[in-house]
Amino acid sequence: MEFSSAQPKGAIGKASLRSWTPALWSAACYWVAAQLASMLVNAAVPLPQFRPGGAVLMAAMLLNPARAWFSILLAALPVSLLVQWHHGLPLALAWFSGDASVAVLGAAGALWLLRGPPRFDLLHHVLVFACWCAFAAPALAALPEAAMLSATGIGPPSFWQAWSARVFGGAAAVLAIVPPAMGLRSGALARLLQDRPQRQFEAGLAAIAIAVLGGCAFVSKGAPAHLSALLGYAPLPLLFWVALRFGSLGAGLAMFVFAALVVASTAAGSGPFASDAMGGAPLPLPLFLDAVAVPMLLLTALTQERRGTLASLRQEQEKLGIALASERRRAERLARERRARAEVEQCVAQRTVELRRANEVLRSEIAARRKALEAERAAALRFSNLFRLGPDAMALGASADGPLVDVNDRWQQLFGYGRDEVIGRSPGQLGLYAGPDDSAKVLACFGGQGATRDLELRMRDRQGRELQVLMSGVSIGAGNECCFLAIMRDVTEQRRAEAELRRQREQLTHLSRVVVLGELSGALAHELNQPLAAILANAQAGRRFLSQPCPDMGEIHDILDDIVEEDKRAGEVIRRLRALFKKEETVKKPLAVADLVRDTLQLTHGNLVERNVAVEFAAGPPLMVRGDRIQLQQVLLNLVVNACDAMRLAPPERRRICIANALRADGQVALTVSDCGPGIAPDMIGKVFDPFFTTKTEGLGFGLSICRAIISQHGGTIEARNLAQGGCAFCISLPVYFGDKHE
Ligand code: ADP
Repeated sequence: MEFSSAQPKGAIGKASLRSWTPALWSAACYWVAAQLASMLVNAAVPLPQFRPGGAVLMAAMLLNPARAWFSILLAALPVSLLVQWHHGLPLALAWFSGDASVAVLGAAGALWLLRGPPRFDLLHHVLVFACWCAFAAPALAALPEAAMLSATGIGPPSFWQAWSARVFGGAAAVLAIVPPAMGLRSGALARLLQDRPQRQFEAGLAAIAIAVLGGCAFVSKGAPAHLSALLGYAPLPLLFWVALRFGSLGAGLAMFVFAALVVASTAAGSGPFASDAMGGAPLPLPLFLDAVAVPMLLLTALTQERRGTLASLRQEQEKLGIALASERRRAERLARERRARAEVEQCVAQRTVELRRANEVLRSEIAARRKALEAERAAALRFSNLFRLGPDAMALGASADGPLVDVNDRWQQLFGYGRDEVIGRSPGQLGLYAGPDDSAKVLACFGGQGATRDLELRMRDRQGRELQVLMSGVSIGAGNECCFLAIMRDVTEQRRAEAELRRQREQLTHLSRVVVLGELSGALAHELNQPLAAILANAQAGRRFLSQPCPDMGEIHDILDDIVEEDKRAGEVIRRLRALFKKEETVKKPLAVADLVRDTLQLTHGNLVERNVAVEFAAGPPLMVRGDRIQLQQVLLNLVVNACDAMRLAPPERRRICIANALRADGQVALTVSDCGPGIAPDMIGKVFDPFFTTKTEGLGFGLSICRAIISQHGGTIEARNLAQGGCAFCISLPVYFGDKHE
């Protein structure tokens, strides 16, 4: 509690001290001013030429709020009384009242007229300050003081003399003290101290120059009067220079320094105003200071105002420039935004078109996909129907030899297994393949992902019966859903029938051959008779030679050679006949076409001779074909016999058969057998290869049909055509054989 009660007391003490600080300061300054004023009391007029007391109080009042004015005056009163005491109380009081009146009138009037403390950078403020504070206030305040001085006889005898001395002395002090005091308070000095070094240097230089020049002008004692007067004006250009360069503060301070110099030097009795101060007219010093200060302040204000106007104009210009620039930027930004918007709009339009297009594409894709899905579904349905109802056995497996996934009814019928028994088991596990070759064949064909058709296999059903199966397979699906579809057709019966047919055809072929040979049998017997007769004749001749006492062994050798030769001939005929009679499997080998023709002609030699038929064989280039010798001989034999039959009624000189072979441009060997018979009736020519077609009374009518089957088996064709010169030609085309390294 003690602390809290002590604290306010201290605070109050500090606050009251602070409120008295301006008063004490003013009192101190007032004391200096009063001392100075008393030093400058004119000898002729007992009034100071420079009376700064009122100016100091006015400055203090202008620098402090009105509530402090009373304390300022109160503090100044004892100081004034103390300093002026030697003049007596009435004069001291009159003196103080004069100073206080000047201060109060000047400060209050300025604050009222200018709505605040005067500013020395504004022309109308300076005018008001000069008119009111510097002249009107001292003039009003000087009225009672001058009256009292005149009345009491202390001051000058003339009222107006006293009044004018008081007015101009006070005005000079106000003009020299108030502006620098206000200027110092306004922060201009701080600004100057923070200014560029050049400005500070310039200010210092100006101060030194004023001091030096002022010193020279006013401190010089005993100088001639005209030189002293001239020197008094010497610092003026400097003052105006400072006023122009450093504004109101510079002007105030310069004026203050100048006034101080003038006043001090005058007080010391030197300078151009010394004589005045000491005993001359009371006006020249204050008038000189007034005449210097007022224009200087006006000039400063005018300059500063102009500078301010210029600065504000520049600022306005800059603001305008900034505004213009920002407006330009805004316009540019707007233009950019407009462009960007246009671009965006264009992009949006383009994107919209693209999106619309993409949408259309998507829509068509969706439609296509829907169609594809429908097609897929339809295909799946078709496949399912086909799988279920198809005529062939079908199985779906994970792969060609993998476990079965599904089998259809036909498959179950074919192999005798139920669906449940086989699903998940591979064909190998079920023993479906008849032998390892068959499973290897399946793997070789279907091991890859391709498709194969009609692979012939031997398979076994559940009972172990061997089945001949044609298998087609294909991989369907993709990726993990890939599976293998095998379609199997049972061709066991078909193959059996085909084998039977082949057997029957071979039998028929053989039979046909036998028939042809039967036709040739007479001629063949005749063919055999010749060597046999020759052998007999040679043997008889040999016996005759041997019965001679000295048989000629050389002759006997020749006879025996002939016998051997004839025997070989007979043996060859029999061998050929036996080969044709033999029923052998078809064996295809490379054959020379010319040899084939010659062998056949040798077989029919007897028949041809018997029938008086001449044969011409135009052996072309040596050509080879690949085929069964016996079957191809059978074909030629048939054609030659038919030709001989056709020429049966022809005159002997026209009975001629031409055989020619040639290589055609298409790489086929063309073997043509032509005769000079009557040819084939045009309406019959298309039927001669039909089975059982014959025009002969003893003919069977299947010789040519067998010929066509044989040639077809050899990959060739046979055709009949009538010749322009009469007769007909049968042309066989067979693929030429150029040799095979595997043969
Ligand atoms: P076949 O000799 O038993 O009649 P082919 O099938 O050999 O049976 O001959 C069928 C028919 O073709 C003959 O009956 C004959 O009418 C006719 N033909 C065959 N070759 C000739 C040919 N060189 N000239 C005229 N007609 C022929």
